Amino acid sequence: MNRVVLITGATRGIGKEIALKFAQNGYDIAINYRKENDDLKNTKKEIEENNVKCLAVQGDVSNFEDCERFVKAIIAEYGKIDVLVNNAGITKDTLLMRMKKEDFESVIDVNLVGTFNVTKNVISYMMKARSGRIINISSVVGVAGNAGQTNYSASKAGIIGFTKSLAKEVASRGILVNAVAPGFIETQMTDVLKEDIKEEIAKSIPLRRMGSSQDVANVVKFLANEESSYITGQVINVDGGMLM
Ligand code: NAP
Repeated sequence: MNRVVLITGATRGIGKEIALKFAQNGYDIAINYRKENDDLKNTKKEIEENNVKCLAVQGDVSNFEDCERFVKAIIAEYGKIDVLVNNAGITKDTLLMRMKKEDFESVIDVNLVGTFNVTKNVISYMMKARSGRIINISSVVGVAGNAGQTNYSASKAGIIGFTKSLAKEVASRGILVNAVAPGFIETQMTDVLKEDIKEEIAKSIPLRRMGSSQDVANVVKFLANEESSYITGQVINVDGGMLM
């Protein structure tokens, strides 16, 4: 029986790359999406080309009932979830002086509360199985802070606290919980930046380039497999040396 992974927000960007990486390694895949669109269709097709199953489950991670529903649907289909990757995330950047309360709340709701909502619905199955891996996508901004991102940075720092606390709670049940903190990765999320700004940021990174979704997916895959069985409660930076 194949191992089963659930990845939230997996229709594009880093989430899609993680889903493809697990598909290439023989996992059956559950991808969560918010809106049905061409990205979803293409991602599902690309996953299935690896001769594994792909179940696409609709739901907004900031809505607890949605998460309850889609986790039950995955269990009904596959009978288990071995690996959970909390990837869905948004930004609403602006300086605090200009930030509306709704901009702060919505980023916390998707990034941090969403991580709680999905994990809370998955954990009981992992507890019963006495095994599981949970990998939360944080950000270097959650470690170091960033002007214009008080909301995002608070949500990503919150994910780190959540990861460490949960790792302590469930270690005795054989469940390992880690966070990955990407630096500056080329996706639609960073596409909004102007070319010259991207070049400036790339120059400030010791490895002199933006990261790729692949760079992140490789580490997530490592944290899900046997080779990382003595690692829990950690934050792994995938940032080309940005945070040194
Ligand atoms: P992206 O291209 O914008 O993709 C984000 C994904 O999350 C999309 O599939 C989006 O679906 C989904 N999503 C957003 N809100 C959702 C919700 N409420 N419920 C379910 N799905 C939702 O971003 P990305 O760059 O791949 O980022 C993926 C993760 O990495 C995020 O957690 C991000 O914070 C983190 N990260 C990214 C970078 C970077 O430089 N790119 C750096 C550090 C950390 P829709 O199409 O429905 O919006």
